[in-house]
Amino acid sequence: MPTHYRRDGDVALLEIDNPPVNALDLRVRAGLEAGLRRAADDPAVMAVVLCGARACFPAGADINEIASGAAFHSPILLELQAQMEALGKPIVAAIEGAALGGGFELALTCHGRIAAPEARVGLPEVKLGLIPGSGGTQRFTRLAGPAATLEALTSGAQLPAARALAIGLIDAIAPDTVRAAVQWARRLAGGEPLPALARAREDKLAVPEPDLFAAFRAAHARAFRGQLAPWRIVDAIEAACTRPALEGFQLERQWYLECRESPQCKALMHVFHAERAARRVPQAGPQVAPLPIERVGVVGAGTMGAGIAVCFANAGIDVTLLDVSREAVALGLERVGALYGESVERGKLSGEQAEAARARIRGAVEYSALGDVDMAVEAVFEDPALKCQVFERLDRSTPPRAILASNTSTLDIDRLAARTTRPQQVVGTHFFSPAHVMKLMENVRGRASSPQTLATVMALARRLGKIAVLAGNCDGFIGNRMLQYYGAEAERLLEEGATPEQIDGVVEAFGFAMGPLAMRDLAGNDVGWAIRRNRALPADERWSPILERMAAQGRLGRKSGRGFYLYEGRERRSDPQVLALICAVSRELGIERRELGEAEILARLLHPLINEGAKLLAEGIAARAGDIDVVYIHGYGFPAYKGGPMYWAEQEGLAKVIDTLEQLAPSHGARWGPCAHLRAAAARGGWECLTRR
Ligand code: NAD
Repeated sequence: MPTHYRRDGDVALLEIDNPPVNALDLRVRAGLEAGLRRAADDPAVMAVVLCGARACFPAGADINEIASGAAFHSPILLELQAQMEALGKPIVAAIEGAALGGGFELALTCHGRIAAPEARVGLPEVKLGLIPGSGGTQRFTRLAGPAATLEALTSGAQLPAARALAIGLIDAIAPDTVRAAVQWARRLAGGEPLPALARAREDKLAVPEPDLFAAFRAAHARAFRGQLAPWRIVDAIEAACTRPALEGFQLERQWYLECRESPQCKALMHVFHAERAARRVPQAGPQVAPLPIERVGVVGAGTMGAGIAVCFANAGIDVTLLDVSREAVALGLERVGALYGESVERGKLSGEQAEAARARIRGAVEYSALGDVDMAVEAVFEDPALKCQVFERLDRSTPPRAILASNTSTLDIDRLAARTTRPQQVVGTHFFSPAHVMKLMENVRGRASSPQTLATVMALARRLGKIAVLAGNCDGFIGNRMLQYYGAEAERLLEEGATPEQIDGVVEAFGFAMGPLAMRDLAGNDVGWAIRRNRALPADERWSPILERMAAQGRLGRKSGRGFYLYEGRERRSDPQVLALICAVSRELGIERRELGEAEILARLLHPLINEGAKLLAEGIAARAGDIDVVYIHGYGFPAYKGGPMYWAEQEGLAKVIDTLEQLAPSHGARWGPCAHLRAAAARGGWECLTRR
């Protein structure tokens, strides 16, 4: 049975036991209903404690039930909550592990909550395009007040127990949590004043500043643009403060149902499943145990090396950060210090946490310092000859067991592996910039990479808090190979008549974090040009000269204060000289500039991604369409609520995607022709037929 009923004297313990995370599926809900009834009917039971088996309070509803509709089969959560509030006996939640989503909504319905010191609580529904639908927005606001609730629910954050206590969500923290909850429940039954149910509380509902909600909406307008759920969460919290209680609860439910039916919710559910599927590596089944990684070397203490060192140190791994000279190492360690300074300033780490992590990173100039590492990550300049030399030295200086990884964005992993005596332990670990912030880790499988090497880097990603995708080895892997034509198309659009503002505006309105030209400025136009210069192009292709000219004129992007835009701090402004440069290119190429509409701009940027994505699937570079979506969402700012480029294409209809490509091909070149794999997928109803297992 997924719920257990036990007695501890006059207290009934209702324990939820539904591995792995005690999700509240129909069987659990039925068990809870029966347990609550039994506790109500038994005159010897004076109070009830709700807890989870294996030190884990329910971490949410069953996601598959939300999608299938089974979450609506009686008893639904709302019915259980009504039963709890009408029990007539004190009921206390003992929270260990993570009480999230529906699980935390259940806890919020109790008279009180006691949490373990390391417990986390939260309502992360927004991440699935939902709002809490079982009174979560209303009860949370009544306990914590509107300001803290707005922050917590629109971000979906998991709050540590200490924070939950500070804002009033829980009543106490106790290491022996269940026992403490039983004792408190017993005292409550024995006459200690019973805390008011959250539903009945009004003392925290006063809005501290009259324009709290208007100001919050204005401050988050950009972050929430295009999305439904975060706005509805704000509406529901406002309703808790301004409407009669019953109406607030009803509105929340109505908005929950609205969100649940939205395409955004379906897209985010797809992303949720795709992220989990990406962990499964066909070449390394669950029987392959990852190697333990406790000490790593990072070679190259530049932008990426410093960020990668911070990722490892934050996960408790010792790092030796190596560069060519004492000065370069000192600079790298300075970068590390600055990253920790930022983390403390932003409240991501406490001063002590930052100090402890930073102390795990030491600098070195001699490769002999890497004599005891379990793994080395190379992050030197993107120069194939230099990387080959570094791999030869790593092979000589690290223990034979060590894995040798490259952070290259585009280069051939097999070429690096060939310089070593252990190609089976060579792999790509492509971090994104800034490495300590960006969630994606695109791991790259070389021809000889062993299942254990792959299992190790996939497990490592999880330990670093990253979302990993395994890509095959080709120029640019998944992400940068697709990006190549997307970036090139942005420049073609500029040549034909669009402006940087127009292009970035369209892409950002679609939901991308940043348009293609703003992204170029962030990465550096010199870097973009250098990468492009090294690449072979099909004979019928040409690169636009715009990027080269930008680099030649010192318009490097953010780092030089000017690129496609002028920068002052984080603000970007238009630069008329850029338009002049673009118009000059159009003239030289004999292109008559014209007005381009939003629809054309968007179509011409998104469709090359999809056509290339189909080729990646067919070549086995990406195992699943969902892997490509995960790469684009977490590495390139594609809006998660649109599900990623491949999901988006399926929603549009692959036949329509083919039509658009065919319409564009005659005037824009052969690369627009829909590839055979895209046609095959369209004929067979979706990407599934190209999936590798
Ligand atoms: P960077 O120029 O900031 O740093 C490179 C560092 O490598 C420098 O400190 C340099 O002194 C050091 N170095 C050079 N030769 C060395 C050697 N023989 N031994 C030890 N150190 C040496 O470069 P970066 O932006 O950090 O990029 C590093 C790698 O990461 C490249 O392969 C790049 O393609 C990849 N990458 C970069 C980004 C990005 O956005 N910057 C993103 C993903 C991947």
